[in-house]
Amino acid sequence: MSRTPFVAGNWKMHKTIADAEAFVSGLLPLAGDVDDVQIGLAVPFTALQAVVDSTRGSAVRVYAQNVHWAEHGAYTGEVSIAMLDELDVHGVVVGHSERRQYFNETDADLRKKVPALLAAGLEPILCVGESDAQREAGETEQVLRTQVVEDLADVADEDLAKVTVAYEPIWAIGTGKVATPQQAQDACAFIRSVIAERFAEQAAQVRIQYGGSVKPDNAAELLGLPDVDGALVGGAALEPASLAGIIDGARA
Ligand code: PEP
Repeated sequence: MSRTPFVAGNWKMHKTIADAEAFVSGLLPLAGDVDDVQIGLAVPFTALQAVVDSTRGSAVRVYAQNVHWAEHGAYTGEVSIAMLDELDVHGVVVGHSERRQYFNETDADLRKKVPALLAAGLEPILCVGESDAQREAGETEQVLRTQVVEDLADVADEDLAKVTVAYEPIWAIGTGKVATPQQAQDACAFIRSVIAERFAEQAAQVRIQYGGSVKPDNAAELLGLPDVDGALVGGAALEPASLAGIIDGARA
């Protein structure tokens, strides 16, 4: 089963509109016409429209970093799927550990967000991953199983492969402490096996990214692993040349 590699940069709370446009101007000459790797940028709400406009016609797809599951309502400060769809974004990163940890995003929220995005034709990038303490306690597989099973519970079996799953061990995010190739492969293969318990064919197609301190110099090894289909990249996605180096790693 060949799955197109998918490298997505997550800018988190970085970049004004001007910064974002400067980044796109730098990235497009390096990677704007790549056709063997899917490229994504997860952009702050305020710069989404500018990045959608400046990447139009290129290989780069634009993602938001959060969304509310409700169609509309009294949810001050939140943004709906229709509001993002109107901007022409391709999808949304949901369940990032920073949102789970600092903003109380729960598996119950994700269980509503993921199918709601799919119903609107948007691609969810669903982040899952264990903490340092959970890994130390031997709970990694249980944590991943709970997140994958609960967050995908209301996705139809035949739609499972429309979701991208990002395996992001919390201890590797922004720490420079990258998972070993064995740890990354084992966790991504485990996630695929949990999805296969529902629908083997969809599990063979679903893309599973690794995220956590991916850099140009470790990308090729990680992205060459059999069950790792790409990367979700934070710090190293803030500079065009660095993200382009990781995209190159996905082609190696
Ligand atoms: C992330 O924010 O999803 C991430 C993986 O960050 P970093 O690459 O900086 O570890």
